[in-house]
Amino acid sequence: MSSYTVISPVTEKSVAEIVMADLQQTDAVIATAAKAFESWRKVTPGDRAKLLRKFAALVDTYNEELAQLEVLNSGHTIGNARWEAGNVRDVLNYYSAAPERLFGRQIPVPNGIDITFKEPLGVIGVIVPWNFPMPIAGWGFAPALAAGNTVVLKPAELTPMTAIRLGEIALEAGIPAGVFNVIPGKGSIVGERFVTNPLVRKIVFTGSTTVGKHIMQGCADQVKRVTLELGGKSANIIFADADIEKAAAGAPGAVFDNAGQDCCARSRILIQRSAYDKFMELFEIAVKKFRVEDPSLDTAEMGPLISAQQLARVKEYVPADTEIAFQGNKPAGDGYWFAPTVLTPKDTKDRAYREEIFGPVVSVIAFEDEDDAIRMANDSEYGLSGSIWSRDIGRAVRVSRAVEAGNLSVNSNSSVRYWTPFGGYKQSGLGRELGPDALDAFTETKNVFFDTQA
Ligand code: NAP
Ligand code: MG
Repeated sequence: MSSYTVISPVTEKSVAEIVMADLQQTDAVIATAAKAFESWRKVTPGDRAKLLRKFAALVDTYNEELAQLEVLNSGHTIGNARWEAGNVRDVLNYYSAAPERLFGRQIPVPNGIDITFKEPLGVIGVIVPWNFPMPIAGWGFAPALAAGNTVVLKPAELTPMTAIRLGEIALEAGIPAGVFNVIPGKGSIVGERFVTNPLVRKIVFTGSTTVGKHIMQGCADQVKRVTLELGGKSANIIFADADIEKAAAGAPGAVFDNAGQDCCARSRILIQRSAYDKFMELFEIAVKKFRVEDPSLDTAEMGPLISAQQLARVKEYVPADTEIAFQGNKPAGDGYWFAPTVLTPKDTKDRAYREEIFGPVVSVIAFEDEDDAIRMANDSEYGLSGSIWSRDIGRAVRVSRAVEAGNLSVNSNSSVRYWTPFGGYKQSGLGRELGPDALDAFTETKNVFFDTQA
């Protein structure tokens, strides 16, 4: 049996020892989940709803404990971590309304009655990355359970602690054993097994585009359903007619939140040339004010990166000879810290401008006009998120229709609301999570015709 030592990104010291599942254990848990499906799908919609509401209520009760655990394991700021635990509660509450509203349709046909049913799929495999361990887990397991599926969930090796706790809380809420299973382990063992074990009927994967493509290929073998939430290189498009003060004040949070380890990070700032100087002046003030400090402090706006490896990866994008426009601060001493960094590349071929860095690094580049802004925003293999700043309503509508991305915000940098669909265009993903339609991703539509002629 192997184990993994969880390291605090703040102190670089070990904080927990986690037992990792091997192939046999993974198969055993998947078999348990398949068995539990037989009874979970038959729990009446009202009772399933009640259990999910109880689960949500307990996540709320344990909000502070879960948040502190995330600060310890992942170095998230305490403010963010409380929001993240709250998001799991909210998503559970939102989908607790689903079992009693999982409507099919009655479709007019000749010689009989035709009804569609939304049937659960069976065991759902949820594979979670390390950047938002709680919310990304919840976006998978809450709608999956609501629709009558059972779940096997693999947290990222680096960040298993809150997922394990959520599994215990589910049991305490009365969710029957075997229905929601958290399996810590390696992607190459546990994650890979979710793909190859035929009892798992669907994979919900969030993570890198490279691993996402590999999983999609693996799923083809069994025509296994798959939802993918992958990388991003989202544009923050600021027109000269915008509220430049507001856009500049919000721009650091839009990319440096969670130390830039966010698939929605607005890591390309496209600013109209006529407003460039004014924006940069205000943006510099905002970046230098951005509080990078011990994430357990209430005032912290950014903590360290998740690991030494991620720090090395980010540093590769900013070699010693890089021309840096300006930088924010970072604490001295232990921890995987990287100061918020602003680059002004000469052209759009620049590697830091094109690739997902997943760290607190942003590239700023000027555009001339609306067509130019749209062309530059779309010049990326990714298409997850983005912001558009303008006081011209017509322009905001035109640009938001033209940008190829799944989640845009106008005069705002907020990309995640559990009421609305979330997902990517192009290589940012496949399918949508959250919102009213997510249940479709966790059900099969069954059509039944009843002959009334006999
Ligand atoms: P990753 O390798 O894609 O990991 C995501 C999840 O997939 C983890 O749980 C991982 O397990 C698992 N996994 C890895 N290989 C697998 C396989 N062959 N089959 C099934 N599951 C597998 O991402 P990462 O290495 O943590 O991060 C690398 C880069 O990906 C980041 O720098 C960033 O650019 C991007 N990323 C994007 C997002 C996003 O939200 N879109 C999130 C995280 C990372 P292990 O933890 O055991 O490897
Ligand atoms: Mg990896």
